[in-house]
Amino acid sequence: MSTTTQTAYLYKHAHPFLPRTIKAASGIWLTLENGQKILDATGGAAVTAIGHGDLRVKEAIIAQLDKVAYCHPGFYQTDIAQDLATFLVSTTHGRMARALLTGSGSEAVEAAMKLARQYFLEQSPPQKSRHHFIARQGSWHGCTIATLAMGDFKVRKAIFEPILPENVSRVSACNSYRGMREGETTEAYVARLAQELDDEFQRIGPDNVCAFIAEPISGSPLGCMPSVPGYFTAVKAICDRYGALLIFDEVMVGMGRTGTLHAWEQEDVVPDIQVIGKALGAGYIPISAVLANERVISAFKNGSKYFVHGQTYQSHPAACAAALQVQRIVQSDGLLDNVRNMGMYLEQSLRGRLAKHPHVGNIRGRGLFWGIEFVANKGTKAPLDPSLKVADRIHQKGMSEGYDIAIFQATGSAEGGWNGDHILLAPPYIVTKSDVDEITDRVCRVVEDVFTELQERGDIREVDSRVESRKT
Ligand code: PLP
Repeated sequence: MSTTTQTAYLYKHAHPFLPRTIKAASGIWLTLENGQKILDATGGAAVTAIGHGDLRVKEAIIAQLDKVAYCHPGFYQTDIAQDLATFLVSTTHGRMARALLTGSGSEAVEAAMKLARQYFLEQSPPQKSRHHFIARQGSWHGCTIATLAMGDFKVRKAIFEPILPENVSRVSACNSYRGMREGETTEAYVARLAQELDDEFQRIGPDNVCAFIAEPISGSPLGCMPSVPGYFTAVKAICDRYGALLIFDEVMVGMGRTGTLHAWEQEDVVPDIQVIGKALGAGYIPISAVLANERVISAFKNGSKYFVHGQTYQSHPAACAAALQVQRIVQSDGLLDNVRNMGMYLEQSLRGRLAKHPHVGNIRGRGLFWGIEFVANKGTKAPLDPSLKVADRIHQKGMSEGYDIAIFQATGSAEGGWNGDHILLAPPYIVTKSDVDEITDRVCRVVEDVFTELQERGDIREVDSRVESRKT
């Protein structure tokens, strides 16, 4: 059976490591076909927020299927889609006005791009020239053509170039580890990035810019990088100055992952358009959403009243039922508190155990979303030789027997060069202290063993032992 699956399965067909077959999943554990149990320290890729196999979600899905499994979103609506949209808008305390319910993160980002574009066409007179998007280096917004073009994950994008559309340019991401200069203050760094963005608006022509899009905390390929305080306030001020929209791609970090339901709640700014995915339905059924504020919605109300968009599976009733139940569980089980508490404990454990490792350059994150960046030399921050594929090795070894832990490898190159080797940890929000201990133990063992192997083979030579271990 599994042989048939693997030969017919297109994804990674020719990849040296075919995906393993999972037979069961419960809580934070995955069981493979050989009985091996793997600790899901990445929640898929920041998806399985409430853990696997929650029967309350199953019951909610079945109850919805008993009522209505599908209707065309253009012809009919359902109570469950209305309920989910109302719930999502209510969680923003008036900051967002409407929600569009879509299928995947990529689809939602594309819908957000179209919404932003049409917003300017709804103006009187229509601002037709505003079709340029400014994005950030080292970003990932999805794998469809438009979102791939918007993002900057070179290893996933290079073979498809040239990619349409061409109306995207990029500025530096906010990267406190690699972007900040020696001795530079946070304020000076923010001012420098703000100037770069302002210059880009001037280069494109402010009246040609539709929106600036950013992940509030970069996921892959930058490897979980929160922005420094004040960065998004400065960015929003520039967007406002030039009348462009601010889009937050919270597909990876939204819906609780970073300790608040919306990642923007920790940034002192509210975007005009917000995209959520992954943790919304927590993996039970694919679902994503686009939220838009009153500024955007009122343009439609005063204009054509019609967003030119529509997908067959938009607002899918069973997916909406799953998502609403997931969100009720996050609230009723106090999971946001757990994300904050266990997040602090995970940070403390990772720093305590790994900060002094000679190849751990940086540990950063928020809530239950943590990245570890590996370097050849802590003093110079020189990345490891990309051909060593260190993050991939950690990922592969983690899944092998004896280690049994799923670790996400967020490695990539971007404009300006190789972004280095990072791993991401994003365990389900239900983790306990002993789960966090187990995660830290296993991650440390995998990391130790990978570097020991590389050192024994003589693959890593450059370690500056004079560099004092410092808080990373
Ligand atoms: N945006 C961000 C920030 C993401 O991390 C991802 C996926 O990892 C996407 C968009 C695309 O989402 P999906 O894979 O569900 O299409």
